[in-house]
Amino acid sequence: MTPDRRTLLHAGVSVTATLASASFAGPPTGAGDLRPSKVLLADDAESCAAAARDFGQIISRRPRAVCKPATSGEVAEILRWARQQGLKVAARGQGHATYGRAMAEDGIVLDLGALTTIHRIEPDRVVVDAGATWHTVLDATLARGLAPPVLTNYLGLSVGGTLAVGGIGGSSSRHGLQSDQVLELDIVTGEGVELTCSPTSYAELFDAVRAGLAQCAIITRATLALMRAPERVRRYLLSYPDLASLSADQRRVLAESRFDQLQGAVVPDGTGGWRYQLEAGVFYDGSTLPDEKVLFAGLTDKRETVSDLTFGDDANAFAKLEKLLRSNGQWFNPHPWLLTYLPGSNALEIASEVIAGLNGDDLGPLGRITYYPMFTDRCRTPLLRLPDERIVFPFNLIRIPAVADKANAERQVAQNRAIYDRIRAAGGMLYPVSALAMSSQDWADHFGPRWPLLREARRRHDPGGILTPGYDLF
Ligand SMILES: Cc1cc2nc3c(=O)[nH]c(=O)nc-3n(C[C@H](O)[C@H](O)[C@H](O)COP(=O)(O)OP(=O)(O)OC[C@H]3O[C@@H](n4cnc5c(N)ncnc54)[C@H](O)[C@@H]3O)c2cc1C
Repeated sequence: MTPDRRTLLHAGVSVTATLASASFAGPPTGAGDLRPSKVLLADDAESCAAAARDFGQIISRRPRAVCKPATSGEVAEILRWARQQGLKVAARGQGHATYGRAMAEDGIVLDLGALTTIHRIEPDRVVVDAGATWHTVLDATLARGLAPPVLTNYLGLSVGGTLAVGGIGGSSSRHGLQSDQVLELDIVTGEGVELTCSPTSYAELFDAVRAGLAQCAIITRATLALMRAPERVRRYLLSYPDLASLSADQRRVLAESRFDQLQGAVVPDGTGGWRYQLEAGVFYDGSTLPDEKVLFAGLTDKRETVSDLTFGDDANAFAKLEKLLRSNGQWFNPHPWLLTYLPGSNALEIASEVIAGLNGDDLGPLGRITYYPMFTDRCRTPLLRLPDERIVFPFNLIRIPAVADKANAERQVAQNRAIYDRIRAAGGMLYPVSALAMSSQDWADHFGPRWPLLREARRRHDPGGILTPGYDLF
């Protein structure tokens, strides 16, 4: 009789607990024994090497084993077992972290790639497993004419992976972060307890899990708000001679809510200088085109390009760049990204100062510095740290080096730290998907008044301190 997955898990968990190191470190013990199924607990070189890499290609921490749970119950059993063994555990969604945040040195990596089911779609919500990508979520909801109000620029990220950090996109001024659009979460705590949390049930855990860097629980399922999907998006790229004129127009269109999506960037122009661009999208249905006279009234831009795509194609536009980067190899180079938020009151000054210290080589020919204003009043996730102002500017160094140069990546990680220190001193905040080392004290400073919320949730729900060691929080 072929044992089912659950039998194997039970067998694996209980027997591996007694075999402990022999099971992990020793040679394969043959098909007839009670080692866990390969799918559930793989300690082969290939699985462990894959889990020791991420998109950042800077940090490598090799786990003892990789687990691919298919249910929340399996996540719970592995966590209980890992706690008994004193092993650290990290969830892995799509592996797009840039600094080893989904790794667990000599511990267990929980690959959530089998937890991808879309369970239910209702007019105002979707219930989805946390390992699903936003691409999968969007495809399924668009088929019903619905969409999540906030999408990241890249849809190949997992739901759990972005909810663990926040999840920002072009419509965040209107709808906050993805973590603000969560109605309910199914989680497994570090103790291996399965719970459903929401604003009305285990509310403290709900607050500690969203943007909580996976320090007290792993998300297995999320209920996310939906809106009616617009049919089309008309997208504009406006060009400016300098950062000041870009900022002025960005602030104006933000204040007047002219666009449904607003972003912008400073990009290397290939000759040692920069291009300053405002990127904005307007939603529309049928043949009712947006009134461009109103959209652009009083702006000082030189209009560069316009695209007009279905909502789904527009949301997936990053896929073109992904394809290019995969084909030229740059997807696999080190990516020492730095993501921050500047206070609106001094954003122009700080961004100008930082950009003056950078050159095109610091970003790579296809890299960019994201820079745009957003309102903060829709961002209500307690652990998402933003400067305490009505307007803040995401300011991100999206470095895409043309070559894989380890020494250069290390230099850029050090540069990230110096820039972060400058930004922090000016009242800015880190978006914790950045490539730089942070000490426990740095994190306590980062979370500031919210630190006790996270520390207490960790103490209560992951008393063994096993979850997500890659951030070095505790
Ligand atoms: C090309 C690219 C584009 C990006 N664009 C955006 C963007 O537009 N907006 C934005 O906000 N971010 C963006 N990011 C950053 C991205 O949101 C984060 O790096 C995110 O954490 C990656 O998700 P992932 O599924 O790849 O997670 P992983 O790298 O697998 O994990 C990241 C972290 O989340 C934790 N985690 C994963 N799954 C779970 C879970 N189910 N429960 C609890 N914790 C979990 C991991 O343990 C780890 O600490 C981008 C990254 C890349 C590489």
